[in-house]
Amino acid sequence: MGVTLDLSRAPAAPRAAAKPNLSGLTRAELAQALIAAEVARPEKARMRATQLWRWIHHYGVTDFAAMSDVAKEMRAALAEVFTIARPEVIERQVSKDGTRKWLIRTAPGIEIETVYIPDVGRSGALCVSSQVGCTLNCTFCHTGTQALVRNLTAAEILAQVQVARDDLGEWPSPKEDRKLSNIVFMGMGEPLYNLDNVAAAIDIIADGEGIAISRRRITVSTSGVVPELIPLGERTQAMLAISLHATNDALREELVPLNRKYPLAELMAGVRAFPGLSNSKRVTFEYVMLKGVNDTPAEAKALVQLLKGIPAKINLIPFNPWPGSPYECSDWGTIETFAAILNRGGYASPIRTPRGRDILAACGQLKSESEKVRASVRRKAAATDAAES
Ligand code: SAH
Ligand code: SF4
Repeated sequence: MGVTLDLSRAPAAPRAAAKPNLSGLTRAELAQALIAAEVARPEKARMRATQLWRWIHHYGVTDFAAMSDVAKEMRAALAEVFTIARPEVIERQVSKDGTRKWLIRTAPGIEIETVYIPDVGRSGALCVSSQVGCTLNCTFCHTGTQALVRNLTAAEILAQVQVARDDLGEWPSPKEDRKLSNIVFMGMGEPLYNLDNVAAAIDIIADGEGIAISRRRITVSTSGVVPELIPLGERTQAMLAISLHATNDALREELVPLNRKYPLAELMAGVRAFPGLSNSKRVTFEYVMLKGVNDTPAEAKALVQLLKGIPAKINLIPFNPWPGSPYECSDWGTIETFAAILNRGGYASPIRTPRGRDILAACGQLKSESEKVRASVRRKAAATDAAES
């Protein structure tokens, strides 16, 4: 049994005025915001931005008052116009295997799931979401049953890392012995349909004077949005993971409908052209093991053929069931036979241990209650809200 702490019944936090939050801004945007709000003179803006940056991203402070080397009047002026507060964490669950899942509400109706998995990567990985819901409908994925609500902003992507580090007690950024060493964009949504915000968030997370997680430890997983692969590599220098799941177009179309738009030949050509690919920067292919669907030895051999010449490793993911899911996970023996064929073919093919299944935190199990609300309904609700406050 996992442990659930329902925070939604906690006393409501006082309603914050809608001040812009500085923590989702890149360095350049931060300097610009300080000038625009007349909190810093243009010639001092870069210096001020660097100072604030260290407090926000290295020390993780959530209140300007904590910035002890910033003059009192300046702190007051900042607090007047901006905020650096965290969004609300409405639920926190801990699995019996130590996996943690948070449900974060960043705005009315915008609820994001984020999962921390200990002992993955160098010491622990955070699985972050890039969208609420998803426009793609991969048949084995729980998120795929939730319509897209919207893209997350860079601030909302970053907030997931901040919330995890608050809970793990990982401020200021430790030099060694980190609990959170790796970031994987494998939560809700398709990151390459939100590349601008994903790239901005990675710039913030990887910055050496802040959270300082190296780009080599940040992996972006895609279902195969081919035209965005090169932009992803050039803009982020992050590691690439491809959700493959099938070795022929007919089956992949069924499992990952995006394959109709970007079939396997195009996808593989796109991967081969990914910037910086080498033996020390290998692409990960994810392959979900579905009983009786894609798990025969012949398919393992076909996979070896398909990846020929690509510096790659293959991550076999035992299928994680969710309420109403139409598949079963392959038997353990079948998965091991499959892995052995890949190994003989020269590919490292770790089998991903399912983590956090008891709290629906494993790969493909994420889904929040958020639903797309028509703009007219949203406007009406906002008007009623304003009238009541
Ligand atoms: N949209 C991106 C990233 C999020 S999904 C993508 O598709 O790559 C992260 C990984 O979980 C993908 O490889 C996805 O195929 C896999 N996945 C989805 N549902 C799953 C399930 N029920 N069991 C196991 N893995 C699943
Ligand atoms: Fe979307 Fe990825 Fe799930 Fe497919 S596997 S529905 S792309 S989140």
